[in-house]
Amino acid sequence: MFTTTLRRPATRTTSATTRHLDWCAGGHHCGLGEHRSAPITANLPGTGTVVITRVQTARGRQYADVHLSAALPTADTAARYQLTALLHHLTRLLSSTRHARTGR
Ligand SMILES: [Zn+2]
Repeated sequence: MFTTTLRRPATRTTSATTRHLDWCAGGHHCGLGEHRSAPITANLPGTGTVVITRVQTARGRQYADVHLSAALPTADTAARYQLTALLHHLTRLLSSTRHARTGR
């Protein structure tokens, strides 16, 4: 079981040259042509935290900005094993999103 937190977007200030996207949080979240959504945080007590933010670059490319904090065992060998497992699973997850996006 985990809990999620969605920060409310800052009050938007729009100028003639800045057009924010519907999902953009505006304010200090975006700038220099980049747009960022309000971050969504999932807390898994005793396990870790995931924060995900939707981003569109100045060139129009969108991606998910993901920050992950995972609790590690105190024993070094177990911690190394968990880090290896995390890297393995995260790279597989990232690869699977590429296949879903391209249909290959
Ligand atoms: Zn924006």
